[in-house]
Amino acid sequence: MEFDDEAEKEIKNDNIDNAAIENAITNILKAVGEDSQREGLQFTPRRVARMYHELLGGYTMDSTAIINGALFEVQYDEMVIVRDIEFYSMCEHHMLPFIGRAHVAYIPEGKVLGLSKIPRIVDMYARRLQVQERMTRQIADFLRDLLKPQGVAVVIEAMHLCSMMRGVKKHDARMTTSAMHGAFRANLATRQEFLANISRGESPLHI
Ligand SMILES: [Zn+2]
Repeated sequence: MEFDDEAEKEIKNDNIDNAAIENAITNILKAVGEDSQREGLQFTPRRVARMYHELLGGYTMDSTAIINGALFEVQYDEMVIVRDIEFYSMCEHHMLPFIGRAHVAYIPEGKVLGLSKIPRIVDMYARRLQVQERMTRQIADFLRDLLKPQGVAVVIEAMHLCSMMRGVKKHDARMTTSAMHGAFRANLATRQEFLANISRGESPLHI
């Protein structure tokens, strides 16, 4: 069986040390009593090392390149909402995935961001070793600093595989976090408008 090198062409410049990860994964395979040389596992260390470039690629994503001129001056001061942004992240305590959706809103103050950019910003913070609370705040802070809007709000709902797989009570597995700045923090009606919008027609989170 050959290792599929296709993915290797996609690997960007980042700080991930393939050789060190491959060694570590080989050691884990041995440590759990596996034969790291058997057919199915032979290339696993290489696959895992290459996978991390994608799963943990957020550290070296360039936010300026992501924004790439999609910042527009407009006289619009109504709420902008992008909801149900699917994301995949990795919990930093267990290195297992947490998966969910993010809802992002802001009220512009002269500047708006191209809508397709908001999911990419979510991705930039999701593709790291994370805790959900910090990721929520990082997205809100980034948009606050970039747009200087009247307000910004981020709500994230996610399922954590580390809770689900480890037999912790299942109802703890789904978590909701929020971060609010400006008008969303100061003004109850603004906050409620956002929360009512994101709960409209909501489907249950599932994996
Ligand atoms: Zn965890």
